[in-house]
Amino acid sequence: DRALAWFRRDLRLDDQAALFHALKSADAVFCCFILDTDILAALPRADRRVVFILGALAELDQRLRERGGALIVRHGAAADEIPRLAAELHVQAVFCNHDDEPAALMRDAQVAEKLASFGALLKTSKDHVIFERREVMTAVGGPYGVFTPYKNAWLKKVEPFYLSSYPVERYTEALAGSVLAQGVPSLSDIGFEPAALPASLGMGASGAEALLEDFLERIARYDRARDFPAIKGPSYLSTHLRFGTVSIRRLARLAHERMQAGDRGAEVWLSELIWRDFYHQVMHHHPHAMTGAFRREYDGIQWEQGPEADRLFKAWCDGETGYPLVDAAMKQLNETGYQHNRLRMVTASFLTKDLGIAWRRGEAYFAQQLLDFDLAANNGGWQWASSSGCDAQPYFRIFNPVSQSEKFDAEGKFIRRYLPQLAGLSDKAIHAPWLAAPLELQAAGVELGANYPRPVVDHAFARERTLARYAVVKSRA
Ligand code: FAD
Repeated sequence: DRALAWFRRDLRLDDQAALFHALKSADAVFCCFILDTDILAALPRADRRVVFILGALAELDQRLRERGGALIVRHGAAADEIPRLAAELHVQAVFCNHDDEPAALMRDAQVAEKLASFGALLKTSKDHVIFERREVMTAVGGPYGVFTPYKNAWLKKVEPFYLSSYPVERYTEALAGSVLAQGVPSLSDIGFEPAALPASLGMGASGAEALLEDFLERIARYDRARDFPAIKGPSYLSTHLRFGTVSIRRLARLAHERMQAGDRGAEVWLSELIWRDFYHQVMHHHPHAMTGAFRREYDGIQWEQGPEADRLFKAWCDGETGYPLVDAAMKQLNETGYQHNRLRMVTASFLTKDLGIAWRRGEAYFAQQLLDFDLAANNGGWQWASSSGCDAQPYFRIFNPVSQSEKFDAEGKFIRRYLPQLAGLSDKAIHAPWLAAPLELQAAGVELGANYPRPVVDHAFARERTLARYAVVKSRA
């Protein structure tokens, strides 16, 4: 038998479910990746993710070649290219891993139909999460809408079986080379331009490995360090999880083992991985939430619109709001493609509750900028911050951007890194420069309205306006 393993968001060889099933079922397994024009067409010409993907593909191709295989890379619409390739290679089946995003499900249904027209099958597996779809349900058989009971049910269900790795390495003799495998195209071959990646991110599965090793040294402190953007608290593995250059089973297993040995940091980190599963199953059960509010009554909120709102939105995107923590966070996003989790909560709250701008606009901006952009997690995060999601922050809890700054970047280290023009301010003044004494501003070389903006909105005023704006949903919140 001949099979095709179709790589998508699982760009690694080890512990890869679809590859494992392909290798076990066939004597000759071809491997492919499609640079899908249906997805790429919507991206800016310089996109960090495209650079990351090409790097990961190059490493994957090399590792496949070391084992007698090779990666066939095509540039075109996946819905056409996969059936075409399957026919050219005379395979009986195409193996891939589940992708539950609505657009991906539609694409996969088209592929399955085209394959069926010449007698080939599309065989899919779970790989991207520990539990998906209907695997963790309430006692009455419904989906969970609140995280903590979901997490408890998740922890109760998890057994070594769900966390163990697929031993791909035992079956690699079935990997087949092909004259169609002609290396990975360059950026310019596919019409893209270079974009800089943070060096610390690393490339491909080897990059993920280095980050993981580094994080395991610190995981025990994760619970105490994770909220402070100036220190190395989190794992920075999100981009690798997004593109599957690291296996979620391996990460969850490491965290679970440490948790069982009493490691509090690992326990809190595992909980974050469970949030990832949680939002993933929300997407499966509530696809309407990917295009509107999870709680439909929140679609009735009147957001600010028009030229003034557009100006404020641009100030937010560019990190020019006059609130240093918000601005430093947006600079981090724009310059690196990453934003610390605490800051994602702060900036999302600021956009929706201080500027009164629709969360969907912020969601779209993050989707464009984030290296780790993931529909389920990004949508979940935005709806949490705007209070329209399931198990979201209540609408009347409104982050104060100054006290968040004083609490989570007390010495202004993070702010100084991204806003060097404020570096000379004292630890006290840096969180709200417009309150600083004129002499201090002058001594620090800060000229409000010139080299750093005055605040675009007054938080106390915005807070009242938001409470009024959300009154339409009050009765049901
Ligand atoms: P760590 O703290 O090391 O966490 C480990 C992993 O757990 C992460 O890599 C991620 O896969 C998962 N995780 C952690 N927190 C969450 C969460 N709240 N929801 C879902 N998964 C989580 N995460 C994304 O992966 N992609 C997104 O597009 C995304 N958009 C977000 C938007 C908003 C408004 C908010 C508030 C959060 C968003 N998150 C998103 C969740 C979280 O901020 C990032 O996963 C995290 O900052 C990534 O950094 P890390 O890998 O160092 O995280």
